[in-house]
This record gives sequence, structure tokens and C-alpha cells, in this order.
Amino acid sequence: MRVKESAASQLKAPADPGRENFPSPWRGFVILGGSLFLAEFVVMICLPYLPELKPWVYNVADAALMLLLASPAGYFLVLRPLHHHIRERRRTEEELLLTNEQLRREIAVRRTAEGELVEAELRYRTVANFTYDWEYWETPEHALRYCSPSCERITGYSAPEFIADPKLQEQIIHPEDADLWRDHHHGALAAREAKIAEFRIRRKDGDIRWVEHTSQPVLGENGIFLGVRASNRDVTDRKIKELQTQQLRRELSHVTRVTTAGQLAASLAHELNQPLTAISCNAQAAERFLAFDKPELNEVQQALKEIWHDSQRAGGVIRQLRALFTKTSQQRSVVNFNEVIEGTLGLLRSELVLNGVSVQLELAPELPGLQGDRIELQQVVLNLILNALEAMTDLPPHRRRLRLCTKLEKSMGIQADFQDCGSGIPPAQLSRLFEPFFTTKPTGMGMGLTICHSIIEAHGGRLWAVNNRDRGATFHLMLPIHQKETV
Ligand code: ADP
Repeated sequence: MRVKESAASQLKAPADPGRENFPSPWRGFVILGGSLFLAEFVVMICLPYLPELKPWVYNVADAALMLLLASPAGYFLVLRPLHHHIRERRRTEEELLLTNEQLRREIAVRRTAEGELVEAELRYRTVANFTYDWEYWETPEHALRYCSPSCERITGYSAPEFIADPKLQEQIIHPEDADLWRDHHHGALAAREAKIAEFRIRRKDGDIRWVEHTSQPVLGENGIFLGVRASNRDVTDRKIKELQTQQLRRELSHVTRVTTAGQLAASLAHELNQPLTAISCNAQAAERFLAFDKPELNEVQQALKEIWHDSQRAGGVIRQLRALFTKTSQQRSVVNFNEVIEGTLGLLRSELVLNGVSVQLELAPELPGLQGDRIELQQVVLNLILNALEAMTDLPPHRRRLRLCTKLEKSMGIQADFQDCGSGIPPAQLSRLFEPFFTTKPTGMGMGLTICHSIIEAHGGRLWAVNNRDRGATFHLMLPIHQKETV
């Protein structure tokens, strides 16, 4: 219909196409009348000289007169309707020709567009089908709208197998990662934002592979949710290297923990000796109170209370020490960083007292928990505090001050500052602090800060150092509260 309209609108037919071919009737009459009149006039002049022609001339004149009178009637009754009919037919023919031409043009345009569409479809399909990663599009009803053939390279299952069985995708997830996958999958459908997760899958041939899975919502016009587009990359080689590096770091971290604890032996012995001596004194006192003729039961009760308290204290030190010495695999749990600092200070109390260091503790109340390995984080805190103590050895004891503070940086996570008033760090050495084996101490190993750095990085955080304005240095660390979903 639109085609016809546009064709009609483009029609440029003359207002009266038949007019040029049919001279004005009045002009015809004038020419005819004039010619007859001229002929009559000539005949009238010649008639006196040719009398024998008279009757014939009168007949011709009558006929001419009749013709002159009859021609308008003929014109209006026959010629004009005939002309009109012919004009209409011509106009219709021209309209049809124009419409036809227009249609031909539109068909050509449409064919070109269809060709381009087929070409684009072929291009995108070729790209999608040859992607190295396994791509798919899952509808809100959990059906697969597209699944790239590369799924076979990664999983051993073909695209038609995945499309035919929407549950297959979940079935190949490693049982230990099933919860993580479910959380991620539900989250991806609900959150409407890109999400990344890493998990293991069991291939058709039984092999275990690591997959980095990125999902993104597909939104149509007006933000209508059309499902989730996901990309799965086989990251097994990278993951194996990462796990090997993690294992090496843990080994190294364990060695340095044992070394550090060795350095603390004297103060730890002191830390244990104190409650043990108190326990022994209280036990003797209780025995004496009981030996009285009239046993002082209240005193005995008080002594027993103190014995219990001191044994708890000694037990706490031993537990912390055992945790540091034990070679455990990485154990992530919800950790309160304030508690990590307080626990480490508990281990170092004798060391701090013996060195005359006053500790200023400014811990943010209600600090949210973070996902981390408590022992590794404790090792970081221990290293940073011991380094600060060593940096302050040149100062007289009453000037040795250590400020520890935590705060919540809303968008970034938890920040902890370890500020001392020691020697500070020469500017040229600031960039080398975290390099392996960098040390300025005669008996130093230069691995403490390297390990701290890698532990904090493994927790998705950052560790850096600055010199204070007056004197000494501050080590800052930032730990995220939310981390990338990984197993
Ligand atoms: P080590 O203690 O065995 O030397 P670390 O990696 O712990 O190894 O420290 C590397 C170096 O960083 C130290 O030798 C010291 O020069 C410097 N350093 C660390 N902490 C401080 C600090 N709080 N103040 C000044 N210098 C520091």
C-alpha cells in the first residue's frame, strides 16, 4: 500500500495529457469556419464568371453550413467523451508504469538489505562458532539459546548435547565447587551485572579442568531481561601454576614463621614463664591455706581462680604458637582484623615490655569481617611489628612508640596502619623494600616484607610504606571485604 502511495506521490503526469494531441475545439471551429467562409467568398467572386457552377456551389455551401453546425454537436457528444476516455487510460497507464518502476526499485533495495543481513549473520556466526572460549546464551527460562561449538574442546560434550539437556551444564561442575556455582548462577540471574567465578568441571572423559566463567546479563529494548550471556575459558594451566606458586609461598611463609618464632624464643619463654610461676605460687598458697587448722576456703577459692586464669593465658600463648608453627593448607574464613592485631600483640607482650615500647591502639569499633587466612594475616602483623621494634632500637626506651590503627574505608575495604618512630626508610630504598632478599640488617634474611606483600596480594589487598613527616615510617595495608569468587 505504501509502495502505491509513494508511487502516486512521485507521479508527475501532465494535468491533461491528452490536450496536446487534441487541438482546442474552438480553434478547430474557427479554422473550419474561416476556411469555409474564405472558400465561399472566393466562389461568390468567381460565380458571375462561371454561371454553370451555380447549383453545385449552392449545394456545397449548404453542406458546408450543415457541417459547420453539426461539428460542435459531434465534438461534445462523441469526440470529447472519447478524448476523455483515452486521456484517463493514458493516465492510468503512466501511473502503473511509475508504480511498477518504484516497486522494482524497492525490491532491489530490499534484496540488497537481505543480502547484507545474510552476510552479517554469516560473519557473526562464523566469529561465534570459531571462538576459542565456550560461549553461550541462557534464556530466563534456563534454556540455551546459543552454545558455541568450542564447548566440545573444553568439556568434551557437544553443543547439541548442552542444548538438549539444560541440566548438563550444572552436572559437569566439580562436586566441591557445586555450591559456589549455584551461588554464582543465581546471583548472575538476579544481580543483572557482570560476574566472574572460577571453578572446576569434570570433562566427558573424566579429566578435571579449571574454568574462568564470566556472565553478563543480556538486556533488550527498554531494559527487558533476555537472559545471561556467558563466556567460559579453560584456565587449567594458569591455575596449576597459581596453585604451585601458592604452595611455594606457603612453604616459604612457614619457614619464615618458624624463623620469626625462633627469634621470639626468649620473650615467649618469658611470656610462658610468668603465668607458670604465678600458677606455682598460687598452688603453694592454696596448699598453705588448706593446711590451717581452720582452712581459709575463700583464699583457696581465690587462688584457684587465679590458677585457672593464668593457665588460660599460658594455653593461649601455646595455641597461638602452635598455629604459627603448624604447616596448614590455606584456610579461608571470616576474620576480624582487630582480633588478628590483638592476638599478635598478646604473643608479643613480653617483647614489647622488655623493649620498653608503648603501644597506642586505635582500633575501629565494629570492623566488618573479611575473608582471609587468619594465620597468614597474623604473620603479616607479626612481621610489621617486629620490623618496627627493630627500627626503634637506637632510641632510648621511653621514646619508643608504636601506633596501630584500623579503619573502614567504605569503598576500598579495611585499612590498617603500623606507625613507628624509628629510623625511617632512606628514600632510595623505598621502592626496594618488598624485593626478595632486600635487607639492611647484618643478620636479616630480607624475606619478611616480600612474604607479607604476597600474603596481602593473595587476599586481594595492597601493602605499602611511607616515611612519617617527623620521624619513623608507617606501613599501610588495605584489605578488601568482598573478593572475587574463587575456590
Ligand atoms: P629483614 O627484616 O630480614 O631485613 P624484611 O623484608 O622484613 O627483612 O625487611 C627488609 C628491610 O626493610 C629491612 O632490612 C629494613 O631495612 C627495612 N624495614 C622494614 N621495616 C622497617 C621499618 N619499620 N622502618 C625502617 N625500615 C624498615
